[in-house]
Amino acid sequence: MKIAVIGTGYVGLVSGACFAEMGIEVACVDVDSAKLEGLRRGVMPIYEPGLEEIVVRNHEAGRLRFLPSFDEVAGEVEVVFIAVGTPPDEDGGADLSHVLEVARQIGRSMVRPMVVVTKSTVPVGTCDRVREIIAAEIAARGLDIGFDVASNPEFLKEGNAVKDFMQPDRVVVGVDGQRARRVMDRLYKPFMINSYRVIFTDIRSAEMIKYAANAMLATRISFMNDIANLCELTGADVNMVRKGIGTDPRIGPKFLYPGLGYGGSCFPKDVQALIHTAGELGCRLEILEAVENVNRRQKDVLARKIERRFGSDLGGRVFGVWGLAFKPETDDVRQSAAIHTVRRLVAAGARVRVYDPVAMVAARVELGESVVWAETMYDAARGADALILATEWKEFRLPDWDAVGAAMRGRELFDGRNIYDRAELAERGFNYHGIGIS
Ligand code: NAD
Repeated sequence: MKIAVIGTGYVGLVSGACFAEMGIEVACVDVDSAKLEGLRRGVMPIYEPGLEEIVVRNHEAGRLRFLPSFDEVAGEVEVVFIAVGTPPDEDGGADLSHVLEVARQIGRSMVRPMVVVTKSTVPVGTCDRVREIIAAEIAARGLDIGFDVASNPEFLKEGNAVKDFMQPDRVVVGVDGQRARRVMDRLYKPFMINSYRVIFTDIRSAEMIKYAANAMLATRISFMNDIANLCELTGADVNMVRKGIGTDPRIGPKFLYPGLGYGGSCFPKDVQALIHTAGELGCRLEILEAVENVNRRQKDVLARKIERRFGSDLGGRVFGVWGLAFKPETDDVRQSAAIHTVRRLVAAGARVRVYDPVAMVAARVELGESVVWAETMYDAARGADALILATEWKEFRLPDWDAVGAAMRGRELFDGRNIYDRAELAERGFNYHGIGIS
């Protein structure tokens, strides 16, 4: 089987490489020629565990190609995925310009029947727009080509993307006919050897499922952040509350961790886009409006704690920050709460020393020379009045506290992810500040 994936970012590159790993011939298309050139030489544009190995192996085997245009493969492929970005536009909706531009390109190049699949996260109704654009482009060339559209939202998690794609919990495919269903079924069969987990739906439901899933996860996070803040006021410990409620099978233990608010390239924009879609239809999603507001407030939780401890003028103060990525195991800093916190400290006059195991390059684009780029986690702590754990990378879990203490000049520790033990740190002379622990 031959397919194309247009957009070679977190989703497109992982999908393309994983399909190739299953013996499918994949053309990954992107407008970023430097990215394509790097990939041909085995240089990954993103950090994603396990990705490099499968990209290099399948590229060398000739199953994975990197191309600047869909034109070159339009006569060969049975399926083309659209996996370009859908960032927020100025009024909170999803900016579909890249998706619709790709639809036009597909329509201009199509010479044979195929299934056009939106894998990007797109509002309900987008597949219909993609179909109309392609049909218009084909008609403008005086041709009649029977093509199908399908919606196949992606649920991979950055940092675990290869594993998620190779062993998905479920694959959702929205189709409106048997022809597309058969093709998509064949494509995903290799991933379903042990149990079949493809859920076929109509197209609009598939588009909605992606937003509803992210909105639900964001809701759990904001809910727990609200509860955490109340725990602080009441003297309860949110870690214990989390365990106490997470063991109820109706609730489950996942996504109950309070922290600095959700970030990344998906939750913030997808919650916003769903609220926007509802608004356009004259409907309000009041729970999600609250989820967003709580999240906005939570992103300042450390800045508020720091202000309470040191005052609003941080001139002359030094802070060490561990972690800049929006979560561990990724170099993605889009909407990162860590970056937000650093900016707040810098704005209040502090000198900030930052360290992240893999996101330093991406973070430098955001923070420039406003901070000191430390060589190691211990270097970040050097001369600091306070140390902040902002992203829970594994290497931060069990630090040499004596070395940390020796490097710092103060003893304040702000644990934005509740990974440390207050009693142990108190014994070592640190003043511990967690989230949701009074
Ligand atoms: P990304 O920004 O990492 O990658 C997008 C790629 O598309 C870039 O390489 C860009 O150069 C390319 N591109 C833009 N216009 C193009 C065009 N006309 N032709 C060819 N290439 C073009 O984006 P991403 O994080 O991979 O997200 C892609 C989509 O998948 C979004 O809708 C996102 O919401 C969704 N999604 C992302 C994740 C995630 O964890 N990142 C998970 C699930 C779904």
